[in-house]
Amino acid sequence: MNLHKLILTKNACYKAGKTITPKGIMVHSTGASNPWLKRYVGPDDGLLGKNQYNNHWNQDKPGGKQVCVHAFIGKLEDGTIATYQTLPWNHRGWHCSSGWKGSGNDTHISFEICEDNLTDKSYFHKVFNEAVDLCVYLCNLYGLNENSIICHSEGYKLGIASNHADVMHWFPRHGETMDSFRNAVKERLQAEEEREGKKYYRVQVGAYSIKANADAQLDKVKKLGFRDAVIRYD
Ligand SMILES: [Zn+2]
Repeated sequence: MNLHKLILTKNACYKAGKTITPKGIMVHSTGASNPWLKRYVGPDDGLLGKNQYNNHWNQDKPGGKQVCVHAFIGKLEDGTIATYQTLPWNHRGWHCSSGWKGSGNDTHISFEICEDNLTDKSYFHKVFNEAVDLCVYLCNLYGLNENSIICHSEGYKLGIASNHADVMHWFPRHGETMDSFRNAVKERLQAEEEREGKKYYRVQVGAYSIKANADAQLDKVKKLGFRDAVIRYD
């Protein structure tokens, strides 16, 4: 990952100064054909390049809108791919508005992948890879895993985000989905754990000879919020 930091301190969202306890990550893509980071991140730090219209998001309300995310992935002036952190990770972002179950803004770290015209495979695979790396980094930082990652359109289905199509209007064009994205994050997290030789103390909550009883217990445990609970038969 090629991670840089340029906090959008002039954005009203930053100035609102609210923090969250991150419970997940929401993946967005910009919905406009402009892969250059300087469109959104500024002023120029010598790597981004100059935004000649000065319409980046380091202003009170970019384009008159109350919007801000935690990071952008796209191209530097020299064409290489980078990630720019644009809000503190535990800041409350303005990225998905609200739904009846509450808003992803209160729970999710958000980032935008800068779209190009959606046909360039090479660009897609580079930013996809960078996004996987960013999620692995954030999972490690906040004790999250691949199951806590959703995209904007999945957030809508869960009732915590506005009705947008990203990123499922783009990923499938290049043979990927949010499931394959989550799998890629999972594989990298596991590879890291193996490298580090981590060992875990696992907690058992029951043992049953009848599967229906095990299923019922799993259901109960998941409802209590232990979403990663599993049944193991041996
Ligand atoms: Zn979005």
